[in-house]
Amino acid sequence: MFFQVKPIKLKHTVSLRLVLILFFLIIGLAPMLIQNKIMLGTYRQNQIDARIQDIQNQCSILSNKMTRGGYLVNEPRDTLLDNEMSVKADMFNGRIVIVNKNFRIVSDTFSLSLGKLNVSEEVIRCFNGENSSKYNSDKNYAALTIPVYSNSEDKVIDGVMIVTASTEDLLTRLSSVSEKGSFLHLMIFSILAILVVLLVKLLMNPFKELQWKLKRVEEGNLDEELSSNAYTETRQITESISKTLKKLKAVDQSREEFVSNVSHELKTPITSIRVLADSLMSMDDVPVELYREFMTDISDEIDRESKIIDDLLALVRMDKTAGAELNIAQVNVNGLLELILKRLRPIAGKRNVELTFESIREVTADVDEVKLSLALNNLVENAIKYNEEGGWVRVTLDADHKFFYVKVADSGIGISEEFQEHIFERFYRVDKARSRETGGTGLGLAITKNIILMHQGAIRLSSKEGEGTTFTVRIPLTYIP
Ligand code: ADP
Repeated sequence: MFFQVKPIKLKHTVSLRLVLILFFLIIGLAPMLIQNKIMLGTYRQNQIDARIQDIQNQCSILSNKMTRGGYLVNEPRDTLLDNEMSVKADMFNGRIVIVNKNFRIVSDTFSLSLGKLNVSEEVIRCFNGENSSKYNSDKNYAALTIPVYSNSEDKVIDGVMIVTASTEDLLTRLSSVSEKGSFLHLMIFSILAILVVLLVKLLMNPFKELQWKLKRVEEGNLDEELSSNAYTETRQITESISKTLKKLKAVDQSREEFVSNVSHELKTPITSIRVLADSLMSMDDVPVELYREFMTDISDEIDRESKIIDDLLALVRMDKTAGAELNIAQVNVNGLLELILKRLRPIAGKRNVELTFESIREVTADVDEVKLSLALNNLVENAIKYNEEGGWVRVTLDADHKFFYVKVADSGIGISEEFQEHIFERFYRVDKARSRETGGTGLGLAITKNIILMHQGAIRLSSKEGEGTTFTVRIPLTYIP
């Protein structure tokens, strides 16, 4: 049992398993990564806000102390407050500068700008009672201005404290937090990856099983039970494959039947020849007449064998899979039918069957003249062969704008309903003896049907046992390849 399967050219394919794994990983990881990004951003902002608040509180306390101690008024300056200022600046890892109301720097923990002027926007705004705090995220520092009052009661701003503080340490803390976070993510990712792989494996199991079963079918086990009800999709796939396999098996079986029929049909005449020859040889002093009679029978059997072979070859040539080709040309169908009838008239005459042709209109169509001749010839010949003494056969040709119709009606023996669906099968004969007697091979109608299908046409049969048979052939006027 061999099926010729065309190799499918594989395009670059993607594994469904891989697609599912990636999909689940992305679905699982994306929210986690987004949430992590948002959380780290919020944490960083909170830390910076808290640091600025802390600096503001501590420097406000210092500013109050300066107000109370008359820091900007008394000369020389209070060294205790200078020291406290330095300690605070160190604590913030930054610098504190005091500007008096003449915008002159009177104190600087870095001692770099003493006596210089500072007329910056922030300082002016602070003198106007507007504190400012700025954060520079590129250089990682915060800058604040805090007013220093002349005395506690009338709240007159006598100077401005400018504080700059580095937030480098916050960044270090942040990166250690994000490092720990990354480790956690790696762990979550690994667990998620294992879970996803297991889940996908579970989901893909029915497909895997189906693949195994199909592998066995591929190895030739066409009887493999192919049901997979895990998913609607697998059920539909297995149903389709089962149906296809059923068809393949039917084709396989019909081929086997055909081969066995062919062998049987070819053997029958040979067996007869052998019997005739053997009986001749076993007889002594055979009269010439008997010899002649036996030899005529042998010659008839050889004719029959040759007819079967011719019909078989015609059928094989017509087989679509063998790449049969039609020789399409514009043909006058009236002429073609008249010629067929002319050729068959002597046989009809022998059986005393009246053969008439009625052409309702002239028909010219795109057909293969030789093949269509053979097909129609078979129908008319059958109508004569399976007829009664003194019966009739009427051939009618008609057409509309799309098709032409050939009707072959006879007054013959008819075909009972139970046999009607089989008569187009190869080697099928209702009455074997009668068919043989009239030189039939059982291939005629199979050849006819094949030819008509090749012409994109159709053949219909209506028959009543004992009353007669009508075959109607419909073929398109124009052939569309
Ligand atoms: P065969 O070579 O035996 O005629 P066909 O394939 O032409 O083979 O026909 C198949 C069978 O169909 C015939 O054996 C016959 O029994 C039946 N048949 C075909 N045409 C007719 C007909 N016009 N009237 C009655 N029976 C027919």
